Amino acid sequence: MISFFEFGLSPAILEALEKLGFQHPTPIQALAIPQLLESNQDLIALAQTGTGKTAAYGLPIIHRIDASKKLPQAIILSPTRELCVQIAKDLESYAANMPDFKVVAIYGGASMDNQIKALQAGAQIIVGTPGRVGDLLNRKRLKLQGIERIVLDEADEMLSMGFKDDLDFILSAIPTEKQTLLFSATMPKEIQTITKKYMKAPIELSVGKKNSATEQVEHLYYVVHAKDRYEVLKRIADINPKIYGIVFCRTRKDTKEVAKRLMGDSYNADALHGDLTQSQRDEVMDRFRKGQIQLLVATDVAARGLDVNNLTHVINYDLPDEAEVYTHRSGRTGRAGKKGISIAIIHSRETSKLRRVEKVSGITFERVMVPDGKEICTKQLYSLVDKVEKVVVDEATIAPFLPAIYQKLEWLDREQLIKHFVSVEFNRFLAYYKDSRDVNIYDTKKESKSASGKKDMPMTRIHLNVGSKRKLNPLKLLSLVNEALDNNQVQVGKIEVLRNFTFFEIESDFAEAMIREIPHFEIDGFPLHAQVAEQSKPGSYQEEDFFRKNRNRKKKY
Ligand code: ADP
Ligand code: MG
Repeated sequence: MISFFEFGLSPAILEALEKLGFQHPTPIQALAIPQLLESNQDLIALAQTGTGKTAAYGLPIIHRIDASKKLPQAIILSPTRELCVQIAKDLESYAANMPDFKVVAIYGGASMDNQIKALQAGAQIIVGTPGRVGDLLNRKRLKLQGIERIVLDEADEMLSMGFKDDLDFILSAIPTEKQTLLFSATMPKEIQTITKKYMKAPIELSVGKKNSATEQVEHLYYVVHAKDRYEVLKRIADINPKIYGIVFCRTRKDTKEVAKRLMGDSYNADALHGDLTQSQRDEVMDRFRKGQIQLLVATDVAARGLDVNNLTHVINYDLPDEAEVYTHRSGRTGRAGKKGISIAIIHSRETSKLRRVEKVSGITFERVMVPDGKEICTKQLYSLVDKVEKVVVDEATIAPFLPAIYQKLEWLDREQLIKHFVSVEFNRFLAYYKDSRDVNIYDTKKESKSASGKKDMPMTRIHLNVGSKRKLNPLKLLSLVNEALDNNQVQVGKIEVLRNFTFFEIESDFAEAMIREIPHFEIDGFPLHAQVAEQSKPGSYQEEDFFRKNRNRKKKY
């Protein structure tokens, strides 16, 4: 594995990295850093969120900066205020041992005067939102003559948030002799337009299309108490009689325990972990490949060499510590064109971990409810009846035994006989699930037992201070909502984009957060503001021309 040392980064930077605990470069860093240290060629880098893109461009930029000069030499554009602040903080930490180094973050919704002052004090790197940067350029408060490098960070997000015009403006205002770097998680068409127009023969770097293999996979999760994990695992197995999957545990100890319990409860299960000898491991894997084991309980490390194509399920008995590991786990199913299911069993305080996994691997989890005893029994019953119907009867072999059997069961009529046969297999489930509990944990505010019906969700109508005049449209509004709440599951109801402002309905639970977050965003450099719409007092929005002119021209979506 390579180290940062091999790139030839300055001792000041290496020391800072050591302090930050960065031991090895991430894949995108390993590709981008040597390239950017050596060359002034434009560059396009594609990598998922959380793969270390900031340092991938930040380290070489800092290394190449002339800290004795007090003028902006690099500018980084990023879609939101939070990201700008984060990037500026990250760059400061990489340059912690460079006393003359300065970075300034500029973004909407904050005092422009203070930002101008900070710029005047002299900074070598500017991190800004396209809106505010465009604004300051327009006012001639930002001089970009000395800019040698420009970075478009999260270019796809900037475009989907409607910053295209600002980007056009900024890119054309910067000296042509600059190096342009574009970092993005995806490569939509609009980006290609930008790269064609503003980049010269860019080198393209891309690290692992991690998601492509998992597109066939449905990602589900259950929220339960940690002590109920095993019960949930059993129910997953019981409601999927034909399950064929891997149960991932974090530790060897858990792996052994879970496998032992499953076997004790008569499941086709076994364990695969590092405490087994090589020949024991080979033997377990072989039985699993042949389908003799339905549930293989394994640690991540032990399952690494295992290649099986038709798994129905991957079960995360607990979520891995590293978000990336989840992608490896879930990628074990949904192979070779088949559909697969990856289930995470989490407890109520693990949802942020889940969101992190979503971000890193670009997937969306769906919360589902742990099935109750009745659902499981029904499923098992049908599965049993199906088996009875389809079983191959070997007439010749059983013929000699039949007369005695007929005689013994003579007293049962057809209906009774069926009941008896089914009960033989089924009583175990009926008994086990007779008084089964509901193990789901409900978030009292958001979900109830009937949570499946999002239809009756209480909605709040919000007033937003921009409309179609600022090129807002329902699509942009939706991405703004997702961005502001950092959540793409929130229900948005009716949207009415008017010329100077917009009304939209949002799940009431998120209304407050929406109103709180929205001032961190801007459109066209215009600071945003939202409030709960008071339908009875339309005049209170100070939107002079709406009720006068537009009353009959409402755009409804
Ligand atoms: P991206 O921009 O690709 O979404 P970030 O640059 O924000 O990712 O990095 C994600 C996280 O990984 C940050 O917390 C960062 O400090 C950390 N990180 C980046 N590079 C390394 C590294 N080489 N070693 C350890 N941690 C790293
Ligand atoms: Mg980033």
